[in-house]
Amino acid sequence: MTRSGDGGAAISLSGVRKRFGEIEAVRGIDLVVPRGATYGLLGPNGAGKTTTIRMILSIFEPDAGDVRIFGEPVSQGVLDRVGYLPEERGIYRRMTVRRALQFFAELKGVPARASARRIEGWMERFGLADRLDARVQELSKGNQQKVQLIGTLLHEPELVILDEPFSGLDPINQQVFKDVVLELKREGRTILFSTHQIEQAERACDHVCIIAGGEKVLDGSVAEVKRMHGSESVALTLAEWSDGVVELVRTSLQVKELRVDGVELEAVLVAGGDAQALLEELVRAGVRLRRFERMEPSLEQIFVERVRPAGAETREVAHV
Ligand code: ATP
Repeated sequence: MTRSGDGGAAISLSGVRKRFGEIEAVRGIDLVVPRGATYGLLGPNGAGKTTTIRMILSIFEPDAGDVRIFGEPVSQGVLDRVGYLPEERGIYRRMTVRRALQFFAELKGVPARASARRIEGWMERFGLADRLDARVQELSKGNQQKVQLIGTLLHEPELVILDEPFSGLDPINQQVFKDVVLELKREGRTILFSTHQIEQAERACDHVCIIAGGEKVLDGSVAEVKRMHGSESVALTLAEWSDGVVELVRTSLQVKELRVDGVELEAVLVAGGDAQALLEELVRAGVRLRRFERMEPSLEQIFVERVRPAGAETREVAHV
């Protein structure tokens, strides 16, 4: 996407690079986060996610390239409209939760009365209303993470950037965090979060960028990425087990790969494969089926297929 075409972007990066000595952590990344998107920055450990986020926030100066937030070069005025949850947690552990949160709010210039109301509202929302006067260090790690997330949101930022927000949380709290992401989206805010846990991104985001080895592998809306890069598959349940039928499916021109678990089959289609043609082939052969269902590729499947093992040097870069 060109600079002239991203006037509505919450974040746009073009050609950003960052080197630490011998390590080229980010190797010329372009990305556009549309306003109102929930955007997942996905990649394995060491892919360059945190470095990219730090360049967006001007914590690191890029060696090359351009960073814009809301179409403007990054300045303190722009950063005041952003909420940031860093990867390394650790807030004033000896302070009470209330004081630590008031402190966050003061840093962002939120008037005392508004901050008191918002702090109580969020603590209630997270089921922590009775912990306001506890010291931060007395809270469990997951609850400390919730308090830090509240601190990120008290000034009601238009853009929320969360670095690995789900790590270290149990499944229930991961869901609580995902619900907050969806709530912020409903309010019209833009959310960028990084994660190496791809399944966390599946429901929480509408746009993704997969990076690996400091380079972009692909990006786009989740629907586009699935359509352009996923292999479609079909789940079949046979009315009865038959070697012959399994062979028929396995050798169909539409099928690239077949997994068999009793009468349950999962056929991954060849690129451009036609599920309808496979169904017609089976019906013509008189095969009786209890189920024939087209399956959407998961982001995890695409991630595994597209991200080469660590150390692979060449990678096809795709933009949808
Ligand atoms: P993770 O999921 O493990 O946090 P990441 O995708 O966020 O990984 P980065 O933290 O951006 O990846 O790291 C990318 C590369 O840059 C790694 O090889 C890392 O060791 C290196 N790196 C990051 N920050 C620094 C730094 N301040 N000094 C030196 N090297 C760094």
